[in-house]
Amino acid sequence: MTKKYQVLNVSLVAPLAIVVVLLVHCFHPSATSTNRESTPRLAASPQPTAPTQPARFTDADFARHVEQLKKRLPSSEFSVVIQRPFVVIGDEPLASVKEHSEHTVKWAVDKLKQDFFNEDPKEILDIWLFKDPASYDKNALALFGEKPTTPYGYYSSTHKALIMNIATGGGTLVHEIVHPFMEANFPACPPWLNEGLGSLYEQCGEVDGHIHGYTNWRLPGLQVAIKAGRLPSFQSLTALDTNGFYNEDKGTNYAQSRYLCYYLQEQGLLIKYYQEFHGHQKEDATGYKSLQKILGERDMDAFKQKWEKYVLGLTRDVVLTPIPPPRRRVR
Ligand SMILES: [Zn+2]
Repeated sequence: MTKKYQVLNVSLVAPLAIVVVLLVHCFHPSATSTNRESTPRLAASPQPTAPTQPARFTDADFARHVEQLKKRLPSSEFSVVIQRPFVVIGDEPLASVKEHSEHTVKWAVDKLKQDFFNEDPKEILDIWLFKDPASYDKNALALFGEKPTTPYGYYSSTHKALIMNIATGGGTLVHEIVHPFMEANFPACPPWLNEGLGSLYEQCGEVDGHIHGYTNWRLPGLQVAIKAGRLPSFQSLTALDTNGFYNEDKGTNYAQSRYLCYYLQEQGLLIKYYQEFHGHQKEDATGYKSLQKILGERDMDAFKQKWEKYVLGLTRDVVLTPIPPPRRRVR
């Protein structure tokens, strides 16, 4: 069933008697903006939820983990908050670390599990929230022996950690939370869907009780690439392996993947597509056949033209003053 929602068209907001539901804790990680962007939502309606799996780890497991972790904290400024299935560590004031834990981490985990993922990550993962670029660079190097290659944050499977510069906002955090869940639930997921879904939710909110991605900063560059005819076919995009997707990216792989996921979401097909692909991954390793099936498209060149026209017609979502106002970040 297609979800009904109204996204962000100011002229349509008033007559619809929209009840604003949520606090959006998703930011777009542009280098120039850390403004919280919130949007009105329709009132949540009851939705079926995926069966919940029993937690992998006990309270005692978490207590042991935290005990070990405390020995590694870079300074007394850091606080530790257990937010299952993660442990969140940050050098902002404790109230801020708790706020990120509850309103971003817990919210994102609950919503992602509701629609996509049954399994928690197989290990207790740490989410490090460094308060500013200086702390992020310095502590990533001190704790993990590596200098970050992105100013926003990343997931390190090796270090069992999400390493974030939280000053750039919570959007990247939601993006990165997708990755360990994908790893636990769909280890063979190709990069395009892993990054497409992750980046879809780097600008997100809640619609009808579900996580919902909005258009974001990746749109203008994608529109330029479409006009220049620079995008590969969806068959090529979906077939990219790790090296092809990340190392040979001409700058459009993330955005093309994101807006394919966005298109599926807007057609009410994203969850259905994920389930179809997940269920047929053995015979369709790239997800391309499942894509054709769920879209009901035989001629994927014609679909690409249709999708490109659709993307060219998109604009950055209008941001309204949220009610209730977003919580002020405590610094
Ligand atoms: Zn990613």
